[in-house]
Amino acid sequence: MQQGIDSRSGRLKALQRFRAARWIGAAALIAIGATAAHAQGNDHGHGHGHDHGHGHTHGHGTEPHTHMPTDYSYQDAPNAYPAPEPAGDGKYWWKGNLHTHSLWSDGDHFPEVIVDWYVQHGYHFLALSDHNVLLRGERWLNPETSGYAQRGGGMDVYELYRERFGDHWVETRENEDGEFEVRLKPLNEFRHLFERAGRFMLVESEEITESEHVVHVNATNIMELIMPETGDTVEDTIRINIDAVYEQGEAYGQPMLPHLNHPNFRWAVRAEDMVPVENLQFFEVYNGHRGVANFGGDGYADLDTMWDVVLTRRLAEEGLDIVYGLATDDAHHYEDSQSDVARPGRGWVMVRSRYLTPEHLIAALEAGDFYSTTGVKLNRIDFDGERYAVGVDPAPGATYTIQFIGTREGYDPSREPIVDEDGEPIHATMRYSDDVGEVLMEVEGDEAVYELEGDEIYVRVKVISSELKENYFAEGERKKAWAQPVLPQ
Ligand SMILES: [Zn+2]
Ligand SMILES: [Zn+2]
Repeated sequence: MQQGIDSRSGRLKALQRFRAARWIGAAALIAIGATAAHAQGNDHGHGHGHDHGHGHTHGHGTEPHTHMPTDYSYQDAPNAYPAPEPAGDGKYWWKGNLHTHSLWSDGDHFPEVIVDWYVQHGYHFLALSDHNVLLRGERWLNPETSGYAQRGGGMDVYELYRERFGDHWVETRENEDGEFEVRLKPLNEFRHLFERAGRFMLVESEEITESEHVVHVNATNIMELIMPETGDTVEDTIRINIDAVYEQGEAYGQPMLPHLNHPNFRWAVRAEDMVPVENLQFFEVYNGHRGVANFGGDGYADLDTMWDVVLTRRLAEEGLDIVYGLATDDAHHYEDSQSDVARPGRGWVMVRSRYLTPEHLIAALEAGDFYSTTGVKLNRIDFDGERYAVGVDPAPGATYTIQFIGTREGYDPSREPIVDEDGEPIHATMRYSDDVGEVLMEVEGDEAVYELEGDEIYVRVKVISSELKENYFAEGERKKAWAQPVLPQ
């Protein structure tokens, strides 16, 4: 381990030198494009001197600014920057999405437009998690020829970006071949447009995307890019990439949170692949991308069932720890996109913490002090070691089913493989007895308390609303929430 850290820091120094050298070249490039903006920036008190051409008003501040060339009016959107709701004990509920893509990989919009959407929809935190890349360094793209920008509308993507943030914000150039290009700004250049203490925060992230076994691991609050590594098996690949995130966190003294994404995407990950991974603490029990098969099918288990298998076997058979379930968007398609496959706003987490900082949110997540949701709002989650109490903040006209789900000691551990037409086992989670993940109690109503009998291996909560989800993953889907598994004490 120590040796690993030493060689990493050696690599890091080399990388920093490399980056510094590149940056000097990049700075010269930017200087050309930014001359006008700098002139504007120094032009305090002399009016615009430049027509933005789209007649917006700046709702930010009282003076009609000249040194603020960017349109900040999105900050005044009615649902932006909400105060968090108190959660007792000086803590608050913070709403966030941990899985989002932009034009830095295969999302179809500029990151500022995407962050703007989340701000306007009342989120408190957002992790931009592009595939095998951090939002750093020098990147340009031609919106007419970039495949991902085209899906979002090609030049319209650029026009919308420019209208929203103003001519002075958007950087364009002609490249050596005479092509029009727009700069993809790095996180550190745009985060100040959005962040406000105790109201909204961006968290650096990456989707470590391994292609041979289709193992994708999000690394929230990462400091340095981690390229995916392929192991001999799916299980090994999950282990290697998750451990790489924790090792980096240790090396930097910064908490980082790896989570396993969409296990059912291309039926890549079975519950049995997750069971033995020692440091697996989080997986996506819901991902808003329509290609990820949250609800299973064709003999493949749904993610709730897989979660129960993972919890039961880890806790009762392997002596390993609990795994928590996250809901995320995995958004790729934004304003005017031609695709509805992966729109934002489908799944998120509500984290209970005193402060809105990555350190506090990760500590709360690691303690299971959060719930995941696709539209059901909870106002109470209390577990005192013997009683698990849950309350729903009901939406008008909606009714709720609250399920306490768990496995009891002495369960029937038998299981059989899923087979194809020829009787050959397929790469799918096995079929377990009904004892694994049984509904221990079900209540129709807005609140419920489950008294543990003491023989439960774990208990978790799922709340199902009568309301259909409009921005759905699967048609006919109802809004849900998942409170995290607890262990009897
Ligand atoms: Zn993925
Ligand atoms: Zn993704």
